[in-house]
Amino acid sequence: MAGRNGIDKLTYGLLVVYCIFAAVKVFLRAFYVPYIVVSILQYAFLGYIIYRIMSKNLQKRYRENAAFERFLTAWKPYFEHLKLRVQFIKTHRFRTCKHCGEFLRLKKVRGTRNIRCPRCGNDLKFHIIF
Ligand SMILES: [Zn+2]
Repeated sequence: MAGRNGIDKLTYGLLVVYCIFAAVKVFLRAFYVPYIVVSILQYAFLGYIIYRIMSKNLQKRYRENAAFERFLTAWKPYFEHLKLRVQFIKTHRFRTCKHCGEFLRLKKVRGTRNIRCPRCGNDLKFHIIF
């Protein structure tokens, strides 16, 4: 492995996509053509993963990994909000302030509620259905 790229963050990201394809394939077993298409995509990803790990063009692989890390940094708040939504799914609902963009956690009480944003102080009206 001397002089090879090895495993980096993009490799792990591609492995997650590979696993998603594997999970999708479980539901597509009854459908012949979509199953084949997803299988081809899955093995193409696996081939790309192996190609990246074994590659000797370190500069190009480094640039690809840096672009992937920039993507992760840009989307990090959305992933964190998604994690909070799943964590508090039974007790709270989340809304965004339309004036300042603050992410608000509200108790799960059905109906219309008037809230004052703690960041900008504007009054907001939210409707929680379920
Ligand atoms: Zn606000």
